[in-house]
Amino acid sequence: MLNINSISKGIVIDHIKPGYGFFIFKHLKLDEANFTVALIMNATSKKHGRKDMIKIENVIDIDLAMLGFIDPNITVNIIEDEKITEKITLSLPDKVEGIIECKNPRCITSNERGIVHKFVLINEEKGTYKCEYCDQIYSWEG
Ligand SMILES: [Zn+2]
Repeated sequence: MLNINSISKGIVIDHIKPGYGFFIFKHLKLDEANFTVALIMNATSKKHGRKDMIKIENVIDIDLAMLGFIDPNITVNIIEDEKITEKITLSLPDKVEGIIECKNPRCITSNERGIVHKFVLINEEKGTYKCEYCDQIYSWEG
């Protein structure tokens, strides 16, 4: 059972792969938050061994596409009155913008400033994406 007793209303992002919690925390700009937030790293998990978790004591807009892109197995729990009222399941987004960068030195995004890096999903099974501008392939496995 997930320990949520420190949150009466808010969001718990759970089952984050160890090491990714900090990236998500920064990406959601939670380091600049003026409400209570917690980043828990390397918590023990019955299912996955170790995991990172983020607890947010506020209702904010979460970039679900970004989370699904990082790991579709992440769960997002909406908490109200200290109970989980909604569990959001994620999937790989069709498109990701401004999360990863194209590594092709000849890509327009590498040569011109101010262009948003955009990737489109080309293989859902492998989680492979390609750059929308130059077709450079990107996958987490490298
Ligand atoms: Zn590119």
